[in-house]
Amino acid sequence: MLLEQLRRAADERQARALTRRRRIAHSACAPHQSVGPVDAPSPQPLLTFCSNDYMGLANHPDVVAALAEGARLYGAGSGASHLVSGHSLAHARLEEELARWFAPYIPQARTLYFCTGYMANMAVLTALGTAGATLFCEKLNHASLIDGALLARADVQRYPHCNAAALDALLTASSSPLKLIVTDSVFSMDGDVAPLAELLALAERHDAWIIVDDAHGFGVLGDDGHGVLQALGLNSERLIYIGTLGKAAGVAGAFVAAHETIIEHLVNTARPYIYTTAAPPAVAHALMASLAIIEGEEGRQRRANLNRLIAELRAGLAPLAAAAGWQLGDSATAVQPLIVGDNAVSLALAARLEAEGIRVGAIRPPTVPVGTARLRITLSATHTSADVQRLVGVLADAVPAEAKREAA
Ligand SMILES: *Cc1c(COP(=O)(O)O)cnc(C)c1O
Repeated sequence: MLLEQLRRAADERQARALTRRRRIAHSACAPHQSVGPVDAPSPQPLLTFCSNDYMGLANHPDVVAALAEGARLYGAGSGASHLVSGHSLAHARLEEELARWFAPYIPQARTLYFCTGYMANMAVLTALGTAGATLFCEKLNHASLIDGALLARADVQRYPHCNAAALDALLTASSSPLKLIVTDSVFSMDGDVAPLAELLALAERHDAWIIVDDAHGFGVLGDDGHGVLQALGLNSERLIYIGTLGKAAGVAGAFVAAHETIIEHLVNTARPYIYTTAAPPAVAHALMASLAIIEGEEGRQRRANLNRLIAELRAGLAPLAAAAGWQLGDSATAVQPLIVGDNAVSLALAARLEAEGIRVGAIRPPTVPVGTARLRITLSATHTSADVQRLVGVLADAVPAEAKREAA
């Protein structure tokens, strides 16, 4: 019965071009990465525009060396959860360094390291979103924030994408004793940025708190790569910040930065923090190396290169999108969506690119709303101008055929 049901569901997915499959990478995460079956004699080299390794640190020699050094110093695994015996000097140092980074944006900031961003979001929303509280959630929030809100005992209200006026109305109508605004900073599938200064002003006015998920901003936004709070010059005790460390920072994990009283509460009550084995200390040790690069001169140069590539890509894509009737998302970040609408068209376009040796993710529902299937093009500081021109060239060749197919 169950298997029959699941097969039917799989057939329906297939019919709607929604089947997802995994590809196997044979080499490190980098703009040029080879992909193929386990036993492929020669995996296919692909120019890749779909990782979130925005700063190109996932395979940076200093970070790789620090990971190996961390393993020599602390071993392979932590052996237990943080509250039992798994909390190491490497985790503590990482949290102290990040607390130093966030001191200018959050008064009395402390930070807490998590194994993944998904878990950090579950932790914050369930530990703070208790019965009686209300979570005011942005419509396009990441799945991990949606799931955290589902698991929380709090009431949940949703406001339309980047619509501060609608949020204002919801906050005005609410009599909840604890109001928590929950939003991505950079939206993961669109690349646009939430109007955080406005949202923070609303939080101040309505005695609310604001939980900001900066998964796609940490490491890339702000002069020192400190993320969206630095980029926008924000400072408030009401900010509860989540940064992830597997994207621009190139390794793994996430952290929450908030007033020390909030962090202490998470340590004591957040189940996704308490009931899981601490990440290997070597991972935290490696992250110290990536933070040093992000904050230093090399980081500055990488961000400058990334921003040049973003401008170059947009200049190349804008006329193509106009010709094909597609929509180039309104994004100034490393996430550049080319919205084609139809699932099958997005897949055909990705397949066409792949035949030319280029890998771009075709993102379909339920990750994005129905009718907004897209190519999600992401750039890394380690891409070159020639890489970007190659992508634009192949897309230019693909446009007429694909546009015709859609019209047919
Ligand atoms: C990737 C992502 C997460 C999850 O972070 P992981 O460390 O990959 O679990 C959370 N929020 C947003 C917006 C993300 O893009």
